[in-house]
Parts: sequence; structure tokens; C-alpha cells
Amino acid sequence: MVLDALTIRQNYLRVLEQIHQAAQRSGRDPSQIRLVVVTKGQPVEAIQAVVQAGAKFLGENYPEEALPKMEVLRGYPVEWHMIGHLQSRKARLVAQFFDWFEALDSLRLAQKLERALAEQERRLPVLLEFNVGGEESKSGWRAETPEIWSAFLPEIELILSTCPHLDVRGIMTMPPLAADPHQARQYFVHSRHLRDFLAQAFPNASWDELSMGTSADFPLAIEEGATIVRVGQAILGPRP
Ligand SMILES: *Cc1c(COP(=O)(O)O)cnc(C)c1O
Repeated sequence: MVLDALTIRQNYLRVLEQIHQAAQRSGRDPSQIRLVVVTKGQPVEAIQAVVQAGAKFLGENYPEEALPKMEVLRGYPVEWHMIGHLQSRKARLVAQFFDWFEALDSLRLAQKLERALAEQERRLPVLLEFNVGGEESKSGWRAETPEIWSAFLPEIELILSTCPHLDVRGIMTMPPLAADPHQARQYFVHSRHLRDFLAQAFPNASWDELSMGTSADFPLAIEEGATIVRVGQAILGPRP
């Protein structure tokens, strides 16, 4: 089912309001939080409606799905975030067409992106993705307990030192859907601690951005420090 433009607008404004309230509850400045509207699986009419309502950041999981949408929406002042796992043979598409890449999860992919970006003389803001729940089905460096955090440090060191066209800004996590809010909050706290650990390990890089929280739990994520939330269904409805 595709929602009509008025409903999408109302949903978008309601989510903005919830972001505002969560920021205020935790003494944060709401203008420092980016709302990425996740448009995967949604038709361009729905995306146009949310952009006309004021959305500035759009998130897609598959480059080949995003490209035709970008074509239709050319001329609108929006930034496209690639938020899904990227196969390295598609690195070139992300290097060329996206404004942010939130799901960098291997050194090999970083090097592919670096080559493509260097050819285009372009720098791309990226987030490193971590698997904080340790689920087999999720991508990202495994990071479910602090005891294993030292394992990925050499790879990240290499990314920072050999990929000057990757503008590392922070991390992204997609915790398991938790049954109760306390459990969900623990994953967000864990993600923030991981970000702080990286900032300490690599003080010359920038770790300001913490992308976490979806339709199910973005207010909690903001209370625990999210600077980017990725919200799809709460605004655009169930994916058709
Ligand atoms: C689909 C997706 C989201 C949005 O999920 P909703 O339930 O629609 O809010 C956020 N992040 C990632 C990585 C996704 O794949």
C-alpha cells in the first residue's frame, strides 16, 4: 500500500516532532540530529511527497534501485545516503552518485571505494558499520562485546591511513529488534561506547556521527546519542 501525500506529510512532521522531544528530554540540540528518510521499496511518488514536506536526507539500500529515483528527483535539494551492505563490484556507483555511505564494513570495500573516488577526484563522507548484536545475518565488523573490539583496530587503522578520499565521520549500527525498550537502550549505549572507544584509539580521525535508530526505536536512540536516525515505515508506511 502506498500512502497519499497528505498522510506522508503528517507522518514526516510527527517524526520530526518526536525527534525534537527526544532531543529536549536529553538536553540535546535537535538541529544536530539528521533524519534520513529510508525510501527503499517505495515508489517515487511517495518519495516526492516526503521531499515536498521538507525531507533533506534520503536513504536507500541498493544502488541500482536508487539510481532511477535520483534521476526523477534531480533538482530537489536532497542528499542520498547509501545505508545497505554494498557488494564491492558496485562500489563505483556509490562513489559516483551518493552523498554519504553509512555501511562501510571491510578494508577490501574501502580500497575499492578509494580507487573509484580518487579517479573522480571526489571525497565521500562514510560511516563504519558495526554488528553490535553479533547476529550472523547482519553485516559490519563484529562488536558484540568490548573484549573483541581490539580485533578490528588494525583494519580500521589501514582504512584511515590509506584511503584519503574516504571522509570517516563516525559509525553506524543496526541492533537486533529488541522485545523490550530496556534491551533496545542497552544496544544503543553499547554503540555509543564503541564510538567513544574508536575516538580514543584514533584521535586524529572524526567520530562525531552515530547513526542508529529506526522506526521502532529512534526516540530511544536519540536519548542515547544518535546524531543520525534512519526512519522508513513510520513515515512512508509499510513497504509495498
Ligand atoms: C530499512 C532500513 C531502515 C529503516 O527501517 P524502518 O523500519 O523502515 O524504519 C534503517 N536502516 C537500515 C540499514 C535499513 O535497511
